Amino acid sequence: MSCPPLKKALQDKASPDGVPKVYGWCPGALRPMMSGDGLVVRIRAPLGRLSQEHARGLAQLSQHFGNGLIDLSARANLQMRGVAPDQHATLIQGLRGLDLVDQDAAVEARRNLLLTPFWKVGDDSHRIACDLAQALSQAQDLDLPGKFGFAIDCGNRPVLANAAADIRLERQGKQILLVADGADKGLPVSPEDAAEAAIALARWFLAQGGAPEGRGRMQTLIARRGPPAPHSSPRATSAPQPPLGFSATGRLVALEFGQIRAEALAALAEAGALRLTPWRMLLVENAQNLAPLPGLILDATDPRLQVSACTGAPGCLQALSATRDLARDLAPHLPNGAHLHLSGCAKGCAHSDSADLVLTATGPDTFNLIHHGKAGDQPLKETLSADTLRATPAILTEGS
Ligand code: SF4
Repeated sequence: MSCPPLKKALQDKASPDGVPKVYGWCPGALRPMMSGDGLVVRIRAPLGRLSQEHARGLAQLSQHFGNGLIDLSARANLQMRGVAPDQHATLIQGLRGLDLVDQDAAVEARRNLLLTPFWKVGDDSHRIACDLAQALSQAQDLDLPGKFGFAIDCGNRPVLANAAADIRLERQGKQILLVADGADKGLPVSPEDAAEAAIALARWFLAQGGAPEGRGRMQTLIARRGPPAPHSSPRATSAPQPPLGFSATGRLVALEFGQIRAEALAALAEAGALRLTPWRMLLVENAQNLAPLPGLILDATDPRLQVSACTGAPGCLQALSATRDLARDLAPHLPNGAHLHLSGCAKGCAHSDSADLVLTATGPDTFNLIHHGKAGDQPLKETLSADTLRATPAILTEGS
């Protein structure tokens, strides 16, 4: 059968210089991406929320059409993995039945919204998100780069400053501040005008040449020419990422490596609707007691919270080695507070910032060790095998 994502993936797999490929676009439901275990189908749940019915339906679709594994992305989207190309069209019908898919791929790509998981019905975050989703669906001429996104973080306690976004709407006292990512100042706007102002800022980005050849990010443009002149109000300091536990909205729980099995997702949703976050966590609305489930982390001292690991081999076409079993085995040996990033290649998808300790695969069972850096940085030690690391995990911190 002719499948554009599959053909493209086979072309993309070839990397003659060994340098990880940067795709420059994000998969969607209607425009999936091929990976080592089949198509990755990304679902942008409206308002970042899955009702209990959504969660049950998604779990069934994942088991039926995918491999039963569901990722939570750094942009708070869900990814079904392992979908066979010839099952994709039927899967989309199922997603349409749940009202979890956009009218077309262009609308889906534009509707790249990240919303604070602590929103309440009728508050500023909720209203602006509804307005912006509507405005983006109608802005057919707005041809933004595939990774270009909006963060709506207008609660009393903004939490998304470290999450990826190009245009931000943040709480500033009683006002809302519109911020171009990378700028330390913004433009105060009313909640009623916020969505329109965000669209105008996206148009400014394009008019300023922010996306030559269809690619580009706001931060790069701001570094080059600064924000628009009216953006002159200082930004408030944002609160850090919230810890596991209870809030007025519900209970935050973490997913091991940001992944959950379909049956565990359905079981978790028995306790309440789920809100998606960019922190490998789900917020279970109004939940109190939760039963343990495979891959679910309820304890804030769980060592698995100290590791990040990407899909690795065989799930990713670019991976040079498996990652997650080794990360799980090394987690209990990490010093308190230290973070280990285990990456299947130098691209470092699982953790874009520097980490205290980084292991980057360089071959089927060899890793470079980096201290205080990123996956592609200069290593301190080379060609460490998984067996060596398991036998002597103290190697990780030697010389630090
Ligand atoms: S970092 Fe991991 S998930 Fe990303 S391309 Fe490399 S192997 Fe694949």
